[in-house]
Amino acid sequence: MKKKEFKSESKRLLDLMINSIYTNKDIFLRELISNASDALDKLYYRSLTDDKIKVDKDKLEINISFDEEKRTITISDTGCGMTNEELESNLGTIAKSGSLQFKENMTGDEKANIIGQFGVGFYSAFMVSDKITVTSRSVDSDQAFTWESEGADGYTILPVTKDSIGTDIVLHIKPDTDTEDYSKYLNEYELKSLIRKYSDYISFPIKMEVTHHHLKDEEKHEYEDHKEIEIINSMVPLWKKDKDKITDDEYDNFYMDKFSDFDKPLKVITSSVEGMITYKSLLFIPSHAPADYYSQEYEKGLSLYTNGVMIMDKCADLLPDYFSFVKGVVDTEDLSLNISREMLQESHSLKLIAKNIESKIRKELETMMKEDRETYNSFFKTFGVQLKYGVYNNYGQDKDKLKDLVMFYSSKHERLVSLKEYVDEMKEGQEKIYYAAGSSISKIDSMPQVDQVKDKDYDLLYLTDYVDEFAITAIQEYEGKKFANVENDSLDLESDEEKEDTKKENEENTEMLKAMTEELKEVSDVKFTNRLKKHPVCLKTKGDVSIEMQKVFDAMPNDLGIKAETILEINSKHPIAEKLKKLYKEDKEEFNKYSKILYSEARIIAGLPIDNPTEISNLICEVISK
Ligand code: ADP
Repeated sequence: MKKKEFKSESKRLLDLMINSIYTNKDIFLRELISNASDALDKLYYRSLTDDKIKVDKDKLEINISFDEEKRTITISDTGCGMTNEELESNLGTIAKSGSLQFKENMTGDEKANIIGQFGVGFYSAFMVSDKITVTSRSVDSDQAFTWESEGADGYTILPVTKDSIGTDIVLHIKPDTDTEDYSKYLNEYELKSLIRKYSDYISFPIKMEVTHHHLKDEEKHEYEDHKEIEIINSMVPLWKKDKDKITDDEYDNFYMDKFSDFDKPLKVITSSVEGMITYKSLLFIPSHAPADYYSQEYEKGLSLYTNGVMIMDKCADLLPDYFSFVKGVVDTEDLSLNISREMLQESHSLKLIAKNIESKIRKELETMMKEDRETYNSFFKTFGVQLKYGVYNNYGQDKDKLKDLVMFYSSKHERLVSLKEYVDEMKEGQEKIYYAAGSSISKIDSMPQVDQVKDKDYDLLYLTDYVDEFAITAIQEYEGKKFANVENDSLDLESDEEKEDTKKENEENTEMLKAMTEELKEVSDVKFTNRLKKHPVCLKTKGDVSIEMQKVFDAMPNDLGIKAETILEINSKHPIAEKLKKLYKEDKEEFNKYSKILYSEARIIAGLPIDNPTEISNLICEVISK
């Protein structure tokens, strides 16, 4: 019998598992029980939607047993089972996304992180087993198969006989080592308490043979052991339990189990709604983004139940894209059990639930921002981009819902602030919300135009994410205050006297400035300014497209040809201003060279590329060697 190889990524992950760097080995049981429960859900749902499949609801169950001598634990379910092909594809491959990034010489933390990101499910059983046998018969097949593996070197699949539909998983428990006690799992009490701890809420009975210790003869104090099959779990789904009786641990364990995360959630959001529509929901905000979150493969959605029966694993219609990171469960009485996907999408009840859920999440986040800023900061660091993307997506149709959830870095506070906080602290006479865009805080700080705002003691927002400026442009104004990009025209921070000076300066030199504009071609205008404090020149934009936005457009694979309209500004108080005037009168050729150099300088400061670097560096050399 030839062994089949695991796919290479699965193999690496298995290696990590077998060498068990993850300390919490207990979770293998909850992962297998969770899979069994899913399989039971699937079979039951099939029976409701397919007349050919008959299922006795009382026979849907999970059985756990162990054999101390043979060192085995068996987890059996009467669920949908797996075909030969499913055994192959489900157990021969993991990390479906294929984006698993393995590095050489990873530290323990990095390894645990990889496992954490993927939620290893079935493979976690290899933390405690040196051999695993899965015997399964699918509801869609008369033939059963056994999948067997001793770890990373491969697996075999053989046809076998199995009378009933479902899956039996036999774990061959590893021998104990100096540091690890695996034998503890071959113990009734231990297994029982693990099931109660992690899998209590599973809606199907988890059965196990347990020993009862009976007093046989009171006088002689004689005891007798008596074995009996017992249901270990309470079977009440967590979201149906009395909220006051649920501990944080229970929520955390439920989340980690159901959504295969090795980390606790950042936030739990519960609601119980009655009235126009009746449902309970239990939602979670993860503490970190799943590995595939910012990729095409990520599937948003909430698990949808009606009356405790799962009808859809990931119902995407329940979440707007900007909250796609939310995980959770919704259970309602208002949907029919055998509703088709198409009807579900059109369902008025579902739309109502989705609307309620959206506003619940939003309110919870707003409260978190106000009352628990530290947690909100951590949330925003992970998912803030998604919210800002939501602001401008679909032509900004959701911007009003989201504008109070976004934050930007403030020059005054040196931390993230909301737009409300910015506006509330605006100085008297300050008309606008000032912002500057650039790739980092220090780059923005060195922008010539920033000084003018800071000199006035106004707060300045630093836009360092590529989505930021698009979001701000979509919001347009906040509480009647317009946004002003420091790079742009309309700052209007000069005094009347200063304005008059600049006007005069520009009028007196119209001819020279016109000559410079013609020489430079790419700029739409050249002007003197007094808003630059130390710097000789800068680029200013006119119109809707800023320089930072142009950089985003330039980086896009399809060139849309969108360009910022730029103006070259020259500091009228800088010695270079006089020099230019002099050259214009005396040496036109030299004047043109200076124009080119100054324009390149302005582009460098703005972080834009120079199209003709050799020409410019030769020019500079020519000028400085005189
Ligand atoms: P996940 O549960 O996160 O999808 P697993 O590695 O735990 O990942 O399982 C992979 C797949 O194998 C499952 O999605 C399911 O289709 C199948 N599977 C696992 N256990 C069972 C089972 N007991 N019965 C039927 N199918 C199962």
